[in-house]
Amino acid sequence: MEVLSIKIFFKTIHRMAICVNVALHELVLNFFKSLNRTVKSKLRVWYMKNETSEHFHSLTKVFKWLVLPFSLFYACTVFYYFGRNPLNSLFWGILIFLYSNFLPDLPSSYINRKNNSETEPLQWYKKYTLLLLAPIFVWLLFSGIRLKWKTTETFHNFKSLAIYTVFLVVFGFFIFGDCPISMGNIPKILSLPIYGFIGYMTHLKVDKIWGKSIFNLPLVLKLRVDEFNKIVTKTLRQDKQRRK
Ligand SMILES: [Zn+2]
Repeated sequence: MEVLSIKIFFKTIHRMAICVNVALHELVLNFFKSLNRTVKSKLRVWYMKNETSEHFHSLTKVFKWLVLPFSLFYACTVFYYFGRNPLNSLFWGILIFLYSNFLPDLPSSYINRKNNSETEPLQWYKKYTLLLLAPIFVWLLFSGIRLKWKTTETFHNFKSLAIYTVFLVVFGFFIFGDCPISMGNIPKILSLPIYGFIGYMTHLKVDKIWGKSIFNLPLVLKLRVDEFNKIVTKTLRQDKQRRK
């Protein structure tokens, strides 16, 4: 009897998790569809569907096999060794993991894909503001405000990942830090960049930025539009061949 109720319990949890996954998948797909419609992008719906599915497939795998065990380990450590409640930081961490899985694509409307030299290069701080405060720039687009900011930075590289990770350390300090910093808050502050790092890396892996090319460090470190376009064109071609 008890075994049966445990089975039912796990089945219910599994079904609930699938339901959340499907809802999130639809939410993200609809978001990118309306974003691309707003900026009159030429991206096809089948490509967006394909992209979202691939990202969700990897996100689910990484969540199951890496984020979930890490979260359990983290929660136990914070609770038993530091005597703190880990729930608030756990909630933030998982939210940041999900967000970071799609972040590199959020500033895509500001990328100068043709790499033409007519547009003035964007100052470095403006460039990375596009990444770090991406939701604000997306909000501007939806509000019908088009900035003339265009950059050849694709944000699909390790340099952007490093900048984002440092940003999350500062963000974590603002949320969980106090002066002077107490020992108990250090794991909480550091948890946010770890979750963000895993999410961003998952995105780069799906977009084939690292893996095979990981040994080509200069390229992976600072991937520019030309190289990025080559990877996108190659992926598109492979997708089309797979569909035939
Ligand atoms: Zn991407």
